[in-house]
Amino acid sequence: MNDRYADIIVDISHENLDRTFQYRIPQNIEESVSVGSRVMIPFGRSDRQVAGFVLEISDRPGFDPGKTKDIISVITDDTLVEQKLIILANWMKERYGSTMNRALATVLPVKKNVRTAVKRDVILKLSRKEAEEKLAIFERKNNVARARLISSLLEDDMIDIKLVTGKLNISSATIKALCEQGIIDVVEKRMYRNTISAAERTGPVELLPDQKAIVDDFISDYRAGIRTTYLLHGITGSGKTEVYMEIIDHVISEGRSVIVLIPEISLTYQTVMRFYRRFGDRVSTLHSRLSDGERYDQFERAKKHEIDIMIGPRSALFTPFDNLGLIVMDEEHESSYKSDQMPKYHARDVAIKLASIHGASVVLGSATPSVESYNVAVNGKYKLYSLNKRAKEASLPDVSAVDMREELASGNRTVFSHRLKDAISDRIMRGEQVMLFINRRGVSSFVSCRSCGEVIKCPHCDVSLSQHGKGKLICHYCGYEQNEVKTCGKCGSRLIGAMGGIGTEAVEQQIKSMFPQAVVLRMDADTTRKKGDYESILSTFANREADILVGTQMIVKGHDFPYVTLVGILAADMSLYANDYRAGERTFQLLVQAAGRAGRDQRKGQVIIQTYRPDHYAVAAALTQDYGAFYEEEMGYRNLLSYPPAGHMLAILIESGTEKEGSDAADALAAAIMDGIMTGVAVIGPTTATIKKIKDIYRHVIYVKSMDTDKLIMIKDKAEAAVFTASDIRISFDLDPIGGY
Ligand code: ADP
Ligand code: ZN
Ligand code: ZN
Repeated sequence: MNDRYADIIVDISHENLDRTFQYRIPQNIEESVSVGSRVMIPFGRSDRQVAGFVLEISDRPGFDPGKTKDIISVITDDTLVEQKLIILANWMKERYGSTMNRALATVLPVKKNVRTAVKRDVILKLSRKEAEEKLAIFERKNNVARARLISSLLEDDMIDIKLVTGKLNISSATIKALCEQGIIDVVEKRMYRNTISAAERTGPVELLPDQKAIVDDFISDYRAGIRTTYLLHGITGSGKTEVYMEIIDHVISEGRSVIVLIPEISLTYQTVMRFYRRFGDRVSTLHSRLSDGERYDQFERAKKHEIDIMIGPRSALFTPFDNLGLIVMDEEHESSYKSDQMPKYHARDVAIKLASIHGASVVLGSATPSVESYNVAVNGKYKLYSLNKRAKEASLPDVSAVDMREELASGNRTVFSHRLKDAISDRIMRGEQVMLFINRRGVSSFVSCRSCGEVIKCPHCDVSLSQHGKGKLICHYCGYEQNEVKTCGKCGSRLIGAMGGIGTEAVEQQIKSMFPQAVVLRMDADTTRKKGDYESILSTFANREADILVGTQMIVKGHDFPYVTLVGILAADMSLYANDYRAGERTFQLLVQAAGRAGRDQRKGQVIIQTYRPDHYAVAAALTQDYGAFYEEEMGYRNLLSYPPAGHMLAILIESGTEKEGSDAADALAAAIMDGIMTGVAVIGPTTATIKKIKDIYRHVIYVKSMDTDKLIMIKDKAEAAVFTASDIRISFDLDPIGGY
């Protein structure tokens, strides 16, 4: 029998990932050594005994086998969290295609020397009663900023100064003035860099019967030792978050930890605060704006059992809890759960794998579940829970469609239908708020010549440049910027102009001129460039300092504004024209989620959807808020064309410095795949990608389709093993891709 060899890492830290050492695996322990195993090895010149982790196993020695030392023994203690994360990294590497280094770097917390931060908190220096009197005075004087700070401090008696200046949008001058008047104080405390201060605790709410039935069922499974995946399908505002919190409470009471995944964009003060109120400082949060040091601190706290719950976007999955009991994934349909870097993992699949390594359960939740998850639930592999009513007395909004073709035929050339315009002016009169959502996903305004049709493109990428403000053209892929073009480079015509979808900026201007008395806010990529912009727009709107909020899909997610009674959706069908098979699903999800923003409180909500295709099933199902009808139609279409979840797909992207090298490599790769191909696998391509070039790198793509994911993974392995002569070729894999290439 051949000897086998293990690559072993001695010290797990980010910088040392590629410093592995190879050892021979003695045959008597071969059975018990696998990736992730902890082993004792002789190390260094003195052969001092140290512990290490096995990262990779191979049949061939990396260097002179005569000089390779033997592993001494296996440590059979599988409670170590690093071990579990290494097993997870190995699984990710094999499934999604990446090097072990990259997989490990994704999964293991970065160890960096971090200075302990000084945390500063704002506190009240007055008694409650005195503070309430001050609050009344500020309110009377219409001193909104001061009033906002005092009322927040009456709710949470200590608030991180970063939150005060950020989310609460209070200037340092105001803080200074209030300090000088002896109303508040800023205190310093040396501590872990927790991101939010502890809030005043509140107990659980009394659950409604539907909520309670779900919680009881989950708990009885959990007590019985059943660990599985659940899908909670609950309409917007049906009380899913309360269900999560109740379930989490039970899991922590059994001494286990919980990871709560939320898309970055819904990781708002509002949502996070609900968890802090319920669970106090046993909660921590991660978000992309944390520094590596801050992130590492939070991971250390998790390792030391100082917290039980970690809330964050997909990377929160890698929180090193050694006793994980539950993973909750809210808004499970969100595309931000899919990583766009190698390994291109989907957080849902990784969560389920991680849960199986730990013996934990997974709860997926959404008002508009992904077709994939719903399909698995319908087939009985996930347990399906439903909530069909809103939790508060609020009823679902009235949703209606306006056919914009008819508006146009009747001579209305503005972007607002008569019905929407009337509804907006009605809300402004009543002092209620309006959200206007422009669906622009997958479309961009481009500039072209009306005489010959030439489109102005980025010189580095195969995409059209987009018009921004006055006189600037920008590439959304590489950031390239140039001045507006006055004459066509091809035919010399001067009839050059912007075409395509209406933008948020244009809508904002039109609305301002129609309703000069209204205060209008705009939220899109351009108005949220700086740290804190996003929060400050939302808090201004939440404080009712504006009447209308205009925005892109950014405004759709999870916000709870009680005074919003009208949601207008312009260009509802825009996303139907995106060139990928998920266009219908995305459109339905966006429309339902956007509609869910209206009438969250006692006041009845109204939603007006403006569309050119009221008969399209995604739009029609959104009008009746009928998930079941949408799912049936969509699944029929996926079955017909074997798109996920009916079949699976692997995209292989070949990137190259020159067009020729790329197409040669793609041809060679396709030939290697086709050689001895198994049945039940179809290869499409190679072809140039939809976007042929990004940042001067050429892109070719091969799609492989099969009903069987394992076959696709075998194809991926085969492609990884294929050798290339050209040096600057990069190959990456994407299993069940979310967008097109
Ligand atoms: P979802 O997560 O499904 O959108 P939430 O959990 O945010 O729903 O609930 C919507 C609103 O209803 C929130 O304001 C929440 O506090 C309230 N709510 C939920 N469940 C209950 C309950 N059992 N009793 C009272 N209010 C509730
Ligand atoms: Zn021209
Ligand atoms: Zn570009």
